[in-house]
Amino acid sequence: MKVGELIRDLRVDRAYNPREIISTWSEKDLLDGKVVDAWVIIFRTRGCYWAHASGCSMCGYVNDTAVEVSEADIAHQLASVLPRHQGQPLVKVYTSGNFFDDHELAPESRRSILEELGDRCDKVIVETLSHMIRREQLEDATRHVDRLEVAFGLESTNERVLRYAVNKVWGLPEHARAAAMVREAGGTVKTYLLIKPPFLTEREAVEDAVRSAHEADPHSDTISFNPVNVQRNTLVDHLFKRRQYRPPWLWSVVEVLERTRGLRAHVKSHPTAGGMRRGAHNCGDCDRRVIDAIEEFSLGLRRDFGDLDCDCQSTWRAELELQDFLMGTGNVGALLAR
Ligand code: SF4
Ligand SMILES: [Zn+2]
Repeated sequence: MKVGELIRDLRVDRAYNPREIISTWSEKDLLDGKVVDAWVIIFRTRGCYWAHASGCSMCGYVNDTAVEVSEADIAHQLASVLPRHQGQPLVKVYTSGNFFDDHELAPESRRSILEELGDRCDKVIVETLSHMIRREQLEDATRHVDRLEVAFGLESTNERVLRYAVNKVWGLPEHARAAAMVREAGGTVKTYLLIKPPFLTEREAVEDAVRSAHEADPHSDTISFNPVNVQRNTLVDHLFKRRQYRPPWLWSVVEVLERTRGLRAHVKSHPTAGGMRRGAHNCGDCDRRVIDAIEEFSLGLRRDFGDLDCDCQSTWRAELELQDFLMGTGNVGALLAR
């Protein structure tokens, strides 16, 4: 069975109200070197076309989508969320899919979202797959928004990692082409990279993230590392339940940030579910301290991690070596604890 078929088989489709957004909240982010409040809105759409066709190994976004969402539904979601704006200068718009996929978000819906949010916020960030974006769409978008940033989930620049670990078939060439288009239209580019997709050892994952960041740097204004977290009904979840997957150590995230902080792009990470079993975690004692340090680093409030340590660093190092020795990607710590 191919990876893509297994991912599709593991998925559970559920019905949701197409008139309700998925979620909205406020979080801290950087804008022009200053820490500001950023407004996050996740609209409910039919979801990522790739998730329906096959899907990425770690992605559970399709769990939150609705089967069909009309233009009127999106208009309803937009009208319901706008009164919740509290003056944040930055807004991040996600759809659990692709903002520039006309089948997921009709051009009219896209226009009204950008118009309304562009009126209220200084900068708007949207997310899409790199091959889904066209020049005319970008020109149209920048008519409504002063400052547009487009985020792309590149994940890795290694074709083999993309194909066999992530199940994505678009890599650096598509990313570079899309990034150039965004920049020509006057926008900026955010690149998401994964830390520890499945089937990679901890050390391979660190090296893959570091190398990918260096290769993606010329095509990125911001590089955001996403340590993989275990989302329900995904291939990663399937492996996790069989002790064949452990999310990355926070020490691995720290090492990746240390080795990429000199890049031209702003480098950051917000570990989802950090400190929990299903997210990047350490021993439990030091997790809060390390996550806070990663947050501070991401907001430009610290330069390095030299002041952090914990006894579990030696366990992390031992696991790195043991996985290399065993030539396996299983959760060595869990296996030894049995
Ligand atoms: S990670 Fe992005 S491209 Fe992959 S299935 Fe999820 S939404 Fe689609
Ligand atoms: Zn620790």
